[in-house]
Amino acid sequence: MRISELAESSKNVKRMGEIDEAFQGRYPPLCALGRALLAEGVLLKMCRKKIKERKFFLFNDMLVYAKIAGHELYYAQRTIPLKTLDVEDVIDTFKDTLKHAWIVKSPEKSFVLIAENEDEKQHWFLNLKACIRLLRINKEKEKIDYAPIWIPDDESNECMRCEGGKFTVFRRKHHCRKCGAIVCSGCSTRSVVIKGQGNDPLRVCDACFERFYSESES
Ligand SMILES: [Zn+2]
Ligand SMILES: [Zn+2]
Repeated sequence: MRISELAESSKNVKRMGEIDEAFQGRYPPLCALGRALLAEGVLLKMCRKKIKERKFFLFNDMLVYAKIAGHELYYAQRTIPLKTLDVEDVIDTFKDTLKHAWIVKSPEKSFVLIAENEDEKQHWFLNLKACIRLLRINKEKEKIDYAPIWIPDDESNECMRCEGGKFTVFRRKHHCRKCGAIVCSGCSTRSVVIKGQGNDPLRVCDACFERFYSESES
């Protein structure tokens, strides 16, 4: 179904009205002509301090997330226009913390999202990609400076990529600036310039390096 047809469908109009009610007028109306809801659900979002549960709504022109205040009761937190947004896959680690995850990048804020299972992840990830592709026929993507991704320090006491043991003063934590994983120095030996994150080389984990950079270097 085309977006315009979906937007006009009675199911969409009804649900959009319900969502506006769920925000109890504490938010500009989401219900708008030509806007369609493509996905909604609860996802885990990596925040500054820890991982938090948030309700996400994907419309054909924006991503909205909100605090869950009760059944069908939300406090809006942020709206990100899709034309400035991009998504990137996160490689599953063998530890559970970062499974079924992907990155949402925008100039204002970038963060890691985690779905409950792989199907749910793919549903969100593919829908997001499809929307972004529709909105960005030209190459303006290249020019966007994305906010750095951050995973809270206290989220992991050990490296997400190896079994080297707990972090100490000598065995320090690092963030992979590509996937956000918390890793030891032994698992993040390379730095590369990451597109959209400035001109200086940034530390990446070896898994990201192998996946995204090793081919272009050799
Ligand atoms: Zn990485
Ligand atoms: Zn490690």
